Amino acid sequence: MKSRHFLVPILLLVALGSAGCGSGGIGSGSSISIEQEWQLGQQMAAQVAQQSQLNTDPQLNAYVRSVGERIHAQTPMANLPFHFYVVNDPSVNAFSLPGGHVYVNSGLIQQADTADMLAGVMAHEISHNVARHVVKKIEQEQTISVIGSILLGQNPNQMQTILANILAGGALARFSRGDEKEADDLGLGYLAKAGYNPNGMLKMFQKLLSLEKGSPNAVEKFFLDHPLTQDRINDISSRIQRMGNVGGTTDEPEYQAVRRRV
Ligand SMILES: [Zn+2]
Repeated sequence: MKSRHFLVPILLLVALGSAGCGSGGIGSGSSISIEQEWQLGQQMAAQVAQQSQLNTDPQLNAYVRSVGERIHAQTPMANLPFHFYVVNDPSVNAFSLPGGHVYVNSGLIQQADTADMLAGVMAHEISHNVARHVVKKIEQEQTISVIGSILLGQNPNQMQTILANILAGGALARFSRGDEKEADDLGLGYLAKAGYNPNGMLKMFQKLLSLEKGSPNAVEKFFLDHPLTQDRINDISSRIQRMGNVGGTTDEPEYQAVRRRV
């Protein structure tokens, strides 16, 4: 029974292998297959759609999706479906669920002054997904049989518990400093390849840090999940310097137009 359940994901992983191997890419070291992760993510995203206020403005959603897809196309997971959402929530936050689901709060869009600042924080979240950080945390906390029962739809309560933990900024949502550095480093590379100025990430995080000093409540959730310190900002800055000429600010009139709609 169990071997039958795991056979399909193994075959899929073999098929996907060429996308990830050796390209500085898909986070490994997880016994949850990519297919299982995407299945879990789909179940969680369906719950989020019921429990959160997702923004339905077609222009805003299309723009945010276009930024996300431009970055996603540069990752070793480009052949896997990613989904991008805007949550109507004034708090400044962005978060990821396993299986390529990336959420940006309207409050974050209000604080992201330019397109490359929005792209910067989205590249960071996309990178958490590419490195499979969330699913690895879930795996540390849950046995494979519990995860298997969730995937079979036999354990909806446990799925809710995991999701609630992530949404509340609980242990499953809190990234280690190592995870943060990996997401920053991968994200800066994807930004440059996608034609966004990587300084957008630097500017966004500098702004979040200064917001935290003035009004900590507004950015509390982001800081809970993603420990952001001056040291981390310095690391990002020196990495950008090592990247050489990254060009000027990337802003887009389309971004300013949709931003006014938030
Ligand atoms: Zn992070």
